[in-house]
Amino acid sequence: MKLSIRTVDLHLRHTFTISRGSRDVIPTVLVEVEAEGIVGRGEASPSAYYGHTPGSVTASIERARPLLEKGDPVRYRALIGDLEAALGGDRAALAALDIAIHDWAGKRLGHPLHRLLGLDPARMPLSSFTIGIDEPARMVEKVREAAGFPILKVKVGTPRDLETVGALRAASRAVFRVDANGGWTAREAVEKARALAALGVEFIEQPLPPDRLDDMAALRRDSPLPLYADESAVTAADVPRLAGRFDGIVVKLVKCGGILGALRMVEVARAVGLKVMFGCMVESSVSISAAAQIGPLADHLDLDGAILITDDPFRGARNVEGHIILPEGPGLGVEPAAG
Ligand code: MG
Repeated sequence: MKLSIRTVDLHLRHTFTISRGSRDVIPTVLVEVEAEGIVGRGEASPSAYYGHTPGSVTASIERARPLLEKGDPVRYRALIGDLEAALGGDRAALAALDIAIHDWAGKRLGHPLHRLLGLDPARMPLSSFTIGIDEPARMVEKVREAAGFPILKVKVGTPRDLETVGALRAASRAVFRVDANGGWTAREAVEKARALAALGVEFIEQPLPPDRLDDMAALRRDSPLPLYADESAVTAADVPRLAGRFDGIVVKLVKCGGILGALRMVEVARAVGLKVMFGCMVESSVSISAAAQIGPLADHLDLDGAILITDDPFRGARNVEGHIILPEGPGLGVEPAAG
């Protein structure tokens, strides 16, 4: 296969703030693999939190070029296994290539990825829409703008969390989930979980820093709300120890190395009794469509990354007020936006 790599800047509709910081522009690494006149597209939105930059991801992908040049993409699982072994644990680079090869294989074999994997699109959960941290009055405005979405994921992790969620609750009848991105202490988390339960919140994502697993066991005993692991659940290897400490995990393609890494996380989570949500980064319709293709495997979805940006270079799976609509085309079903 021939390989090309480029980095593009994605511009956010609103400054996006979580408990760790704020962003207006997010660079994302896009790859294309080509063989037999068929192009497969992949993407990795590098996260500094996981130690990735566009440069580091690009350099890792370059290391895979010789394997891609001689690999047989029809035997796509074998090829991706070889790439995983060669990439030395760079799962963002692996995700970009895994997604591109799945797209290529779907196109070559003439099926959308969900059909290749035997999934039922009718089992697609609704997606949430994310409300970043801001002044409470500004967050109320954003919630009003998102009035069509049945589920909102509210970013928390400030001293004003309860005041904020209370104000949002008064402004919206949507289902609320909250994501602290590891920004709470153990004591704060118990108090906030109780208060958020009274405000009708459905569940809490990553209340404590990812290494606080002993505190998580105690929090789970005391929390009236289910708890989901995001930063604590990077790959399938993390999942067994989360049982008893969380109720579910958040799977993101760029954390775990793509479609095959995600399928592995789902299987391990099911084996140890954990629920599954598919999440995303701020990313284009390439990554969002890849996650949407396997969306029917999840209990919950949070696939809003491409609708948070103004300049998505692609169109593919759509998020229409939380309803994920899969495209008809083979592979990921993604096309250039201008085409
Ligand atoms: Mg999260």
